Amino acid sequence: MEKIALLDADNMNKRKIAFPNLPLMKLSAYHKARGDSVEWWMPLERYDVAYISYVFGEEYTPAPPVEYINADHIIEGGTGCDYRAKLPPEAEGIMPDYSIYPKFDGTAYGFLTRGCPRGCPWCIVPKKESGVSAQVADLSDFRAGQHFIKLLDPNLLACRDHEAILWQLVISGAWVDFTQGLDIRLTTADNIALLKRTHIKRIHFAWDDPREDLTGHFERFKALSGIADYRLLGVYILTNFNTTHAEDLYRVKAVRDLGYSPYVMIYDKANAPRETRHLQRWVNNKIIFHSTREFSEYDAARG
Ligand code: SF4
Repeated sequence: MEKIALLDADNMNKRKIAFPNLPLMKLSAYHKARGDSVEWWMPLERYDVAYISYVFGEEYTPAPPVEYINADHIIEGGTGCDYRAKLPPEAEGIMPDYSIYPKFDGTAYGFLTRGCPRGCPWCIVPKKESGVSAQVADLSDFRAGQHFIKLLDPNLLACRDHEAILWQLVISGAWVDFTQGLDIRLTTADNIALLKRTHIKRIHFAWDDPREDLTGHFERFKALSGIADYRLLGVYILTNFNTTHAEDLYRVKAVRDLGYSPYVMIYDKANAPRETRHLQRWVNNKIIFHSTREFSEYDAARG
């Protein structure tokens, strides 16, 4: 029996944790199934193996330096550290050990598909996973009766089997959150009908590249879905990657005028221009956004 330590490098303060770490939940289940003891890392303990998982990147991470960790083997991984690191195959497909994050009891987390064919230059998914979206699991592989499901799939609708997958979600009766959004370009009358039969509180899309005109897709989705309430329809607007302020403002206003709720995301926020940060505050604070119609008014008021 081995003694295993887990370090959730993005969430060393467990009281403030916003999202559980799925790879660590799988590693915990994998080692417990082998008869190993698994616990969160404790400074004065010695371990056979310590796993450190970074999702968002070491620059955000209050994890202790590895020389403070007393373990025979220290294994680091995660998108924020080395996107090529993969879980052992036996751990990848296992039911996650939800008990290590009691705060998130009642919610299942997982991927039904992996990969995306889009190849957006700001996105790690095609490099980390694959340029093809393919089914990797059934819902029963990571849901044990929970009433809420948070899916992490990068582009579920790009999977050729996505309608069968959506049926699994419909039949589950659970509330589903597509955390990475859905690709508006791949919505059809058939998959919209299935989405409408799924319990979804809010659906969101993205319009990242202003050189691609998505307005026709947004109009078509509204017509086919019949969803009229803008609060149920979010659109992420990527800024500060390769767009101008005018292009950012154009997309914000276009989706608002189409009856969607824009949400500004800033790439490399630490180095973003002032007007981009102001744009984000104007758009994402919905009280301000709906009371101040023009960005120029808001910007002038802030000085
Ligand atoms: S569509 Fe989304 S998941 Fe796919 S490459 Fe672009 S940003 Fe990444």
